[in-house]
Amino acid sequence: ASGLMAGKRGVIMGVANNRSIAWGIAKAIHAHGGEIALTYQGEALKRRVEPLAAEIGAIVAGDCDVGDEASIDAAFAEIEKIWGKIDFLVHAIGFSDKDELTGRYVDTSADNFDKTMRISVYSFTSVARRAEKLMTDGGSMLTLTYYGAEKVMPNYNVMGVAKAALEASVKYLAVDLGPKNIRVNAISAGPIKTLAASGIGDFRYILKWNEYNAPLRRTVSIEDVGDVGLYMLSDLSRSVTGEIHHADSGYHVVGMKAVDAPDI
Ligand code: NAD
Repeated sequence: ASGLMAGKRGVIMGVANNRSIAWGIAKAIHAHGGEIALTYQGEALKRRVEPLAAEIGAIVAGDCDVGDEASIDAAFAEIEKIWGKIDFLVHAIGFSDKDELTGRYVDTSADNFDKTMRISVYSFTSVARRAEKLMTDGGSMLTLTYYGAEKVMPNYNVMGVAKAALEASVKYLAVDLGPKNIRVNAISAGPIKTLAASGIGDFRYILKWNEYNAPLRRTVSIEDVGDVGLYMLSDLSRSVTGEIHHADSGYHVVGMKAVDAPDI
């Protein structure tokens, strides 16, 4: 390992299990010398997150439901108490009712629209505001997005609308926080079979489609995204902010089905 993250400390939000994208990023940061505090959502996930934290010597900063401002305050108060300052923040959180991740976007309910936007979009802004106070020597913030923000993907529906808003908020946050040398970026990851992804209709078809049609002819792993996260959170990307960086085997440049793609 390089020591690229030596002396850097930060918070990673969104580890649910060892298939989470947040876990891929945590492993990469740990391997390069960074110190990590993990937050989790709810007592049920605590049992899964604690052994993972132990594997990488991470602090467990506690239960943080990003739908609850008091819960976010409590988690960041805990981190401030332990470390005083931080250098990076990872937000790998999204939620929508799975009944609306299938069928037509036009049928999205007002309640689920609000909840999806609150948890998947506003929460990044909300945690960024707390993290800013602790990034007294500058820092790097990172969130996770998907191509469904740019182009219509089957079943992604309200989550695509939310990711478009999340990507716009990355740019607004980059401008607000840039003068403090705080960078704000997103990784637009290709599809990966995680807990969150299992809620999306026909997800296996989407995975196969990407494998057959992406320029690199493969899907991405959490380790692939973890290494891109390492670049975004380390000083290697010190001149990069407001960027939506695709880690998707190149799928986003493709205009039509590959000539050699088999039927699915
Ligand atoms: P995951 O299920 O492992 O992670 C989602 C996380 O969101 C979980 O840890 C869950 O606890 C957390 N979460 C949900 N509601 C929350 C709340 N109210 N408070 C706090 N945490 C909450 O799945 P993942 O695929 O690793 O998802 C991480 C991020 O990556 C999401 O933003 C997702 O949209 C994005 N993403 C995923 C893919 C994919 O194909 N898996 C592709 C591109 C982007």
